[in-house]
Amino acid sequence: MSVGTASNVDAYLAVDIGGTKISVGVVSTMRTVLYESRILTPPINVWGSLAEQVANALKWSARNGISLLSCGVGCGGPMRVEDGVVSPLHIPDWRNFSLVQAMQQLTALDVILENDAKALVLAEHWSREQNAAAVPAVMMSVLVSTGVGAGVMAGGKLMMGRTGNAGHIGHVIVQENGNMCACGARGCLEAHISGPAIERAIGAAASTANVHTRVVAGTLLGQAIASVAAMMDLTDVTVGGSVALGFGKEFLEAAQASARQHAGLSFLKDLTISAVADRSLAPLVGAAALAKYSVEHASRL
Ligand SMILES: [Zn+2]
Repeated sequence: MSVGTASNVDAYLAVDIGGTKISVGVVSTMRTVLYESRILTPPINVWGSLAEQVANALKWSARNGISLLSCGVGCGGPMRVEDGVVSPLHIPDWRNFSLVQAMQQLTALDVILENDAKALVLAEHWSREQNAAAVPAVMMSVLVSTGVGAGVMAGGKLMMGRTGNAGHIGHVIVQENGNMCACGARGCLEAHISGPAIERAIGAAASTANVHTRVVAGTLLGQAIASVAAMMDLTDVTVGGSVALGFGKEFLEAAQASARQHAGLSFLKDLTISAVADRSLAPLVGAAALAKYSVEHASRL
């Protein structure tokens, strides 16, 4: 989309905060990423770095005639959405950090905070709607990155669960007496296929993992997805996040083969696992989708 000067362009301010990187973007109401900045998550003074990135995005928007409608923030958990407070497992600098209040003061916008995996499925849903693609009754997007989580949409609505924590596919058990997980259990999917878990297993950066490691990780993901698919009666699964996208074709093909192998019921025969439509931009589009979704569903997310 070209940025006109004659009339304003409506857009959302979008922020994606992960344990490895932080992205700030401006995403139009047509789902186009107009502006993006990305930094590595600093070990200290995370807010100072984020605030600088956000200030630059606000200046850029003002210069280019962009009207910012509201702000969506996707962040790693845990968090207390009701209070706007985050304590991301992979950002030790933030414990009970009042992120929503700080962002509201900085931007003077409404700020909508949610788990980054929920943002991912909203991005996928938005993409389907916009491309007039079939939107299934139930769909799931899985984020495989520093952590492993999922967002599920049913009937066009985000599944929240009793406390807002629905979607923790990272803690589906995939290995008996497997790796110790940060949650206290053993053999959780996250303890085997998250970026840090892969690093511990191979003693090097996850991005250097060989084909065997990628296939084993994909196979475990497919196993967990098959269980969830049977439980939820869903066949449409998309996968994003730095580990999933970085591991690429071998990972996705192994996940697909394993999911089909483990999902024997007739209603699961079309179970399909593919990469998220917006690839590495999906978390940012998802943050914008949070802002869009909260307006369309005025009740609490
Ligand atoms: Zn766990």
